[in-house]
Parts: sequence; structure tokens; C-alpha cells
Amino acid sequence: RPLLEVSNLRKRYANGHLAVDGVSFAIAPGESLGLIGESGSGKSTLSRLVGRLLDPDDGAIRFEGRSIGTIGARDFFRAEQRPHIQLVFQDAAGSLNPRFTAFDSIADPVRRLGPARNPGALRHHVEKCAADVGLAPALLDRYPHQLSGGQCARVGIARAISVDPKLLILDEPTAALDVLAQSEILALLERLRREKGMSYLFVSHDLHIVRMICDRMVILQNGKIVETGNCEEVFQNP
Ligand code: ADP
Ligand code: ADP
Repeated sequence: RPLLEVSNLRKRYANGHLAVDGVSFAIAPGESLGLIGESGSGKSTLSRLVGRLLDPDDGAIRFEGRSIGTIGARDFFRAEQRPHIQLVFQDAAGSLNPRFTAFDSIADPVRRLGPARNPGALRHHVEKCAADVGLAPALLDRYPHQLSGGQCARVGIARAISVDPKLLILDEPTAALDVLAQSEILALLERLRREKGMSYLFVSHDLHIVRMICDRMVILQNGKIVETGNCEEVFQNP
């Protein structure tokens, strides 16, 4: 059974723009799917629909067989499913809460979504998440503006894995980084997926990166999937 199943998803913005136009795909447990397309093709909209930050106009999203796509399912999703589907955003430095230390950013999903933990247990858990992403404990007391871009990216990833998700949605997670930090973060993401058995929906405009990180890819053009296949196949007929 697929972990995630998206069928005939459609999203029109208030200005009339049809950003996602009848998209269907599935992600198996442990699979990494690349979502590739030019700027404006609808990648972010699609990833925000799947991550349930936006409501679709039409179509279905099923997670482990349960419907999570409808507005009626929103409360159920927030209460039960949010820990299983986490997001890592582009430009971590800009999307982390500027008033949160690294510690509080990582602890936030746990505080909001998990059962209450005592402070000692929470600190232990946050330090473990930080260690998983190669973030030194001394950095946990810093605010985003006191961290490098690569360190902020690590905080964003530690935050997302803090609730042990089954699916990670990564929206151009290395786009704001220099090449060195970029390759470090990609290696980190590959290792985390191996170790934790997570599935990825990995959004990128960069075929080279998708080929490194993903098993399969779908190509989006004007809100529609125009090609799908394993990375090598798609590469051979451009
Ligand atoms: P991508 O991530 O591939 O760059 P987006 O999903 O951000 O694509 O955008 C898809 C299309 O929807 C673009 O034409 C964009 O201009 C439009 N769009 C994105 N967000 C909004 C919005 N809030 N209101 C209206 N149009 C939007
Ligand atoms: P609410 O915003 O009402 O708490 P949700 O549970 O749907 O509802 O969303 C969680 C909020 O946390 C969203 O506003 C989202 O933008 C924000 N958020 C930021 N980063 C993450 C993350 N990694 N995982 C989940 N939510 C996140």
C-alpha cells in the first residue's frame, strides 16, 4: 500500500490562476520522489497541498489509506497526522522563527504535537535531534541570525525530524546555500533517509540534485505532470 496517494488534485488561486491542474502520483514507504519543474510550474503549491498548509479545490490526498485532503479532515489531520508529515522549507534562515533559539525551533513540533515531556527529557531529545543533523550542542542557544545558512538548514531538518515523521516534504531545501553547504546538506538528507526509513517528496528545479536524492521523479509543467519514471529513464529521453 502506498504511504501517500494523491489523485486528481486541483488548486486555483483567488486571482484565477490554476496552479495545480489534475495531478496524481503515489509515494511508497521509504521511497524518495523528486518533483521537478521550472519556476512557476506549481511545485511549491503542490508540496503545500500535500503538506496540508493549503486546501485543494478538488481531488484526494490519502496518507496510509486515510483521506487527509478535505477541509473536513483538517482537524483530524492536525491532531493525528501532522507528526507523520513534516516540511523542510527553502531558505531555512528566513523561515525559522527569528524569536526562537535553535533549541526552541527543534522543540516546537514536539511541544505542539507530541505528549508533554519533562524538561530534562525534552532537552535530551532535542540534543539527540541536533546530533542527528550534525549540529553542535553549543549552537542550540543561538538565534537564526547568529547561525550560518548551512546551520539554519540543519535546524530546519532537525525540527522536521523531531517528531519522527514518515514523510518529509522538502521544498528546494538547499536553494539558498553555497555549493559546499549544499553538498553537505544533501549528504545529510541521504544518510537520514537510510537511517530512518523516511519517504521524501523532494522539490527541486535541479535535475542533477533530484537524480542524487530520488528513486523516481515526476516532471511538472503548468500545473500538470508531463513525465514520470525512475530517474535514469527520465534522464535518457529528455
Ligand atoms: P513553483 O514552486 O514551481 O515555482 P508555485 O507553486 O510557486 O510554482 O506557483 C505556481 C503558479 O501559481 C505560478 O504561476 C505562481 O505565480 C502562481 N501563484 C503562486 N502562489 C500564488 C498565490 N498566492 N496567488 C496567486 N497565484 C499564485
Ligand atoms: P496551525 O498553524 O493552526 O497550528 P497546522 O498544524 O496545519 O496548523 O500547521 C502547523 C503550523 O506550523 C503551520 O502554520 C506551518 O506553517 C508551521 N510549520 C512550520 N514549519 C513546520 C514544520 N516543519 N512542520 C509542521 N508545521 C510547520
